Amino acid sequence: MIDLVLLGCGGNVPMPNRNLSSLFINYRGHKILIDCGEGTQVSMRMKNCGFKDIDLILITHLHGDHIIGLIGLLSTIGNSGKSDNLTIVGPRGITEAINAIRVLVEYLPYKINIIEDPKETFSIENDILKDLEISALELEHSTECLGYSLYFNRTPKFNVQKALINNVPKELWNRLQNSNEIFYNNRTYTSDMVLGDDRKGIKISFVTDTRPLFTIPDFIKDSDLFVCEAMYGDDMDISKAMKNKHMTFTEAANLARLGQVKKLLLTHFSPSLENPHEYLGNATRIFENTIIGEDRLSLSLNYED
Ligand SMILES: [Zn+2]
Ligand SMILES: [Zn+2]
Repeated sequence: MIDLVLLGCGGNVPMPNRNLSSLFINYRGHKILIDCGEGTQVSMRMKNCGFKDIDLILITHLHGDHIIGLIGLLSTIGNSGKSDNLTIVGPRGITEAINAIRVLVEYLPYKINIIEDPKETFSIENDILKDLEISALELEHSTECLGYSLYFNRTPKFNVQKALINNVPKELWNRLQNSNEIFYNNRTYTSDMVLGDDRKGIKISFVTDTRPLFTIPDFIKDSDLFVCEAMYGDDMDISKAMKNKHMTFTEAANLARLGQVKKLLLTHFSPSLENPHEYLGNATRIFENTIIGEDRLSLSLNYED
């Protein structure tokens, strides 16, 4: 199971009841943030997310509403007693941005690894998060911007019969489930000797800020959860969406339908959009399983089998 909290669902500027862009993901006690707008650490504290085990932060782009919260958050993570590495991923310019932040937050008791402008699917060095495949997609916004898709692989089940047929000594059964190969009594044993068929993992995709692109449906294909910006509820605002490089509810829902995702979560609402629920119908008439984001909305995703 994977637990998520939409920490903030606002775009541009923080509002009294709306923090800025951030999604929190808890995978087996290891924590990931996507974006870190102002107010992120306040929402995290309200939801008892914990700061120490944040191992990965993905930043979509360098607009303030997606990154300004990092200044305080990096410091708070430092005060939480974290000592292992933190990886920060972002578009071109992320290294410079982090270096600028480090002028204000000079001493940190943990090391920051930066991955700038990743071009291919990658994983990070981490005991647990090594199972996670991360992909980035170039979006169309007023500055360089990346969408992310996260695929949490699921290890196959242990298969006793296979272990017996392959003559794997019993003392290796447990260990082989967690390591690719073990050399024992002059023979190499591999994990596929004891594991059954592959099992479907969980895919989460996060796309903000952008115009709709023909590359997005394929990128988000079959996501269990698609978190998508929906700056404007009213279709009449399409010209604003085009000018400011954002999307309407209708456009976000179209992407969800084309990508055949399971669930759509709308976020990044314009400060002028007082009650996004009023426009829910614009999305659900195209893609039924749509949820309107709210600050600190919690969700859990389960494996299929
Ligand atoms: Zn934004
Ligand atoms: Zn932006």
